[in-house]
Amino acid sequence: MSEGGPPGEGVPSAAGSLSLVSEEVRRCTRCPLSLTRTNGVPGEGPSDAAVVLIGEGPGRNEDLQGRPFVGAAGKQLDGLLKEAGLGRDEVYITNVVKCRPPGNRRPTDAEADSCHAYLERQLELIRPMVVVLMGDSALKRFLPGESLASSHGRLIVQGGLALFPTYHPAAMIYNRALEKVSSDDFRALGKVLSGLRAEQG
Ligand code: URA
Repeated sequence: MSEGGPPGEGVPSAAGSLSLVSEEVRRCTRCPLSLTRTNGVPGEGPSDAAVVLIGEGPGRNEDLQGRPFVGAAGKQLDGLLKEAGLGRDEVYITNVVKCRPPGNRRPTDAEADSCHAYLERQLELIRPMVVVLMGDSALKRFLPGESLASSHGRLIVQGGLALFPTYHPAAMIYNRALEKVSSDDFRALGKVLSGLRAEQG
């Protein structure tokens, strides 16, 4: 134990530890995606965020900028967050894999497995009220065997996490029918959050 200092002195803060995870991601060589990336994309947002959103993997713009959801899907996501009454600066946004799969293909199970420890550490440090699973890749990681069609838009508590599956924001770009479904999901997310906050007093 350290002498003389205030309690907790010398213990890294959640924000500090989260930055360390981000640095590790940027230097990571655990899987072949590291060979073709421009930048690793660890994720971004406050370390005390009530909501963590998990997408699939960085696309071209994200790879170039090293930031999640900055392209077309990011615009859709910004709109959806508003439906939930959330600002982008108050949520933590990350992905199942932190490096861009070439050609924006879906990450393989092996790639997602290699990257999963980063996601676990991010969730342990942030301890969010709700984890939003955006799309099949994120759903499969946390709720294997579930389909989006049957699970989207509702809270599922499992493994100590409050999971909220929804469609990937990019899916709305190709399937206009999902616009309303996704808007409804994010409005439901806003209500879920209000309920949880009221419970916490
Ligand atoms: N799609 C994702 O799944 N993640 C991003 O960061 C951008 C697009």
